[in-house]
Amino acid sequence: MHSNYSHSISPSKVIRGEKAWINGKELVPLITKRPLFLGRSFSTRKIRLDLIEDLKNKNLNAIPAELEYDCCQKDLDRIYKIAKQNNCDGIIGAGGGKVLDAGKLIADRLSIPCITIPLSASTCAGWTALANIYSSDGAFIKDKVLKRCPDLLIFDYNIIREAPSQTLSSGIADALAKWYEASLSSSSSTDGLVQQAVQMARVLRDQLFIDGLDAIKNPGSDSWVRVAEGCALTAGLIGGIGGEKCRTAFAHPIHNGLTQLRFRQKALHGEIVGVGILIQLHLEEVHSKNLLANQAKEQLMKFLCKINTPISIESLGLKDISNSEIKKACEFVLKSNNGINDLPFTLDQKQLHKAMLKFKTTENILGRYNLTRGKQ
Ligand SMILES: [Zn+2]
Repeated sequence: MHSNYSHSISPSKVIRGEKAWINGKELVPLITKRPLFLGRSFSTRKIRLDLIEDLKNKNLNAIPAELEYDCCQKDLDRIYKIAKQNNCDGIIGAGGGKVLDAGKLIADRLSIPCITIPLSASTCAGWTALANIYSSDGAFIKDKVLKRCPDLLIFDYNIIREAPSQTLSSGIADALAKWYEASLSSSSSTDGLVQQAVQMARVLRDQLFIDGLDAIKNPGSDSWVRVAEGCALTAGLIGGIGGEKCRTAFAHPIHNGLTQLRFRQKALHGEIVGVGILIQLHLEEVHSKNLLANQAKEQLMKFLCKINTPISIESLGLKDISNSEIKKACEFVLKSNNGINDLPFTLDQKQLHKAMLKFKTTENILGRYNLTRGKQ
């Protein structure tokens, strides 16, 4: 017996390359005549002003707006109102995952087109028909499935190459999660599309392992293009083809749980997901008696150290975190149970807490494995 599944596989059009913006901006007036142009951080303001200026030269007066906090209800409501008051007929989101998600959510609510211009390769949010909603101080609340993927995605190498390398490392960890999560959650799937999506995630993982470090060291090299596009584009495509059945296992729910804690300085999405994958592999090792998971964990840990991304909870900006705080994160993971019920093994809070404590401090981990200290 087959049920029906609905897929939002990809943006209607993707323009990628050295001069993607130069070509892409010609298409913008065909999609929207009065766009709202959304961004967030001070560090990208100059780029955004340049893009807005370019649109002005095409007789498009974009209404600029910025997120004040996160992709949170307060910001979403405020910007929704700005879009409505100005009769905007399209949203352009230019930024990282939070900005792109916010742009997609507002376009979805207004049923108007959305254009995404990622300014880093830190997530695949420019591609997907999914968005995460956070509290104003960054705690994950829920995700929302949108009506469709963006109408146009412009992936301009010249712009993205300027992003800090930390965004690429974080994007790599987030994209790696596709394989670790999909292969666990879909291990017994008989659905061909899901099986093929999981294989694509495996190929992506291998390419990230092969090219990841070179990509970070040499922005603009062929490896950089493969890795940046793998993180921002392919990872989204995998989610689109596999659909809801091949999305999360434990790494993302653990990310969601950890965001509930009080960060000194908030780590990037993919950095938290990276630690989530390690904890997931540890759980697989302990609860499925899966020795391969142990090897996979060591392999991944070494790679994360190489690309200088955190491997412990403390190094995510949660220094001196108490065990009871970690318990709070566990409660959230199990309470929200986003897909974790479909996994090959079940967990209670005590078991999850025990696994998370193993990844509390870097000293702890470095002591157990023969690793050199990077940023951790
Ligand atoms: Zn993610």
